Amino acid sequence: MATPLSIAIVGAGMGGLATAAALRRVGIDVTVYEQATQFARIGAGIQIGCNAMQVLRGLGLEARLRAQSFYPRSWNNRDWRTGEVKFDMIFGESAEQKFGAPYLLAHRGDLHAALASAVPDECVKLNHKLIGLEESGEGVQLAFANGAAVTADAVIGADGIHSLVRDILFGASPVSFTGRIAYRTTYPATLLGGAKIDDCTKWWGEDRHIVIYYVKPDRSEIYLVTSQPEPEFRIESWSAKGDVVELRKAFVGFHRQVEQVLAACPDVHKWAIVDRHSLERWTDRNVTLLGDACHPMTPYMAQGAAMAIEDAAVLSRCLDGVDRDGVAKAFRRFEATRKARTERIQSTSRANTWLSGKTDTDWVYGYNAWTVPLAA
Ligand code: FAD
Repeated sequence: MATPLSIAIVGAGMGGLATAAALRRVGIDVTVYEQATQFARIGAGIQIGCNAMQVLRGLGLEARLRAQSFYPRSWNNRDWRTGEVKFDMIFGESAEQKFGAPYLLAHRGDLHAALASAVPDECVKLNHKLIGLEESGEGVQLAFANGAAVTADAVIGADGIHSLVRDILFGASPVSFTGRIAYRTTYPATLLGGAKIDDCTKWWGEDRHIVIYYVKPDRSEIYLVTSQPEPEFRIESWSAKGDVVELRKAFVGFHRQVEQVLAACPDVHKWAIVDRHSLERWTDRNVTLLGDACHPMTPYMAQGAAMAIEDAAVLSRCLDGVDRDGVAKAFRRFEATRKARTERIQSTSRANTWLSGKTDTDWVYGYNAWTVPLAA
């Protein structure tokens, strides 16, 4: 019997864990190396599009995510002051039927934990920060800051927007700061004191917006995320704190619902919104990138993690039944299958007009990564 392929995945974010789970489904031996010493539950929400849910269903996570997440009637888009509806993207059962999977709003920590539950603990090595990578006839050698060194048949760099794997393969290049920042937080909905708010609405202002939605099925937890200009702020960290008074000031005059949500908000994080143009190539011999490592994007379509999750399913299909000699070709096939779609999503997201008026959404939510034709 042929020896199963051994693959090292760098990064246990959404993309790395989804990929580990998908590769194990096709019998590939994977180990995920993550720099963090433990998984933190960050106070953030995440929209799980129908396209991402198709993949998560295939990984056996649908029931768990339905039980833990909010099932919105729509993603509404309203004018910041008057509340006039610009475009109401209906989800719920009709979209579920049309796109073949539900649209869910989750706590980011719940989605990450669900993905982690699909990968056995012994396959995830925490406290392994990659510091070096080299390809040779023997395989790919990985070196870690803790002194560990391993060799794998192939490596997948799922190490996010500041990917070291990308820098090693294609040279370092800085991210571009958009000049905008995001405030974000989750908090118990009881703090709203009974105020009625929409299921999920993006409130469109002149040079800023705020998105507010529930992240729990019983509407017990609420999430908000903003985008507004602040060219001097450059800190890009999931743990950097913001000032809630400044946040409230930035949205004075917005609709009553926004005011109520911000008045009740106890605490907030602040994040510089960065972007990166699409890469010419994602793969080099037996090493490839996926997720934010190769196609990061602004968060305006809520599709960044969804793209990493789709990558996982397509990559597993390309690698199914492949031996070490076939990896480079499989990685090129993966890149060829995914590139046009992720580039289109990156540029659409950058424009920040998604759902601001009547929008064709079928090409985004109707994509099924398990069945889409693979490139030749
Ligand atoms: P990451 O999640 O960044 O994971 C990379 C992992 O690699 C991390 O765990 C990191 O610690 C690890 N790592 C990095 N370097 C090393 C190293 N040298 N060695 C070992 N490990 C390493 N997407 C959606 O689909 N829906 C949304 O609603 C949504 N909302 C968003 C809101 C905001 C404010 C932001 C900023 C993003 C949002 N996104 C959303 C996008 C989404 O968060 C990202 O696209 C997604 O997290 C990318 O996943 P990833 O696995 O590629 O990278």
